[in-house]
Amino acid sequence: MDRLKKGIHDYRRDVFPQQKELLERLAKEGQKPHTLVIACSDSRVRVTEWTGADPGEFFVIRNAGNIVPPWDSVEHSGVTASIEYAIRVLPIENVIIAGHSHCGAITAVLKPEQMANMPSVRKWLDHAQNARTRAEQKFPDSDDTRKLRKTIAENVLLQVENLKTFPCVQEKVAAGTIKIFPWVVEFETGNVWEYDTATEKWGVLE
Ligand SMILES: [Zn+2]
Repeated sequence: MDRLKKGIHDYRRDVFPQQKELLERLAKEGQKPHTLVIACSDSRVRVTEWTGADPGEFFVIRNAGNIVPPWDSVEHSGVTASIEYAIRVLPIENVIIAGHSHCGAITAVLKPEQMANMPSVRKWLDHAQNARTRAEQKFPDSDDTRKLRKTIAENVLLQVENLKTFPCVQEKVAAGTIKIFPWVVEFETGNVWEYDTATEKWGVLE
């Protein structure tokens, strides 16, 4: 903890002065983020930092498995409320749903015995169960490593579908005022993969 407190000290001394003007303006005028990011809570995923964006550019939701519960699911949770707020109130033009390599949540979907004493996790990850089914159907005979990779990718696409069940998202998609970007962050290589809906293929962002 001492190291983290020292980090606050260093931030106040070295970084804050450079951003002071911007942060004061954001305090006065309010935030106007252009991009909503829905990413996994995993400590290794620092995709918003990688973009080099400034404060005020990203509205971020993180949870285990970068999940978006479908609109008609009974749980109107912190995730659904944050999405609704972002889409209705903020000037969001892009939504990034970012899964990542070696995701523990998706590993648990593939090995549900890991969730024996975690009823809440198990219930939450029900929202990713279809990703497993789809990966198994599309890529049968995969070994464990490939199966995890494919399920992580299918999960991102599944959560994009779930996002499109939100009335507020449907309105903006129909009006062409919002774009949705499915990403998988490979933190150990620095690669970010994006799904191209036209070619139905994943490719690394250059
Ligand atoms: Zn994860």
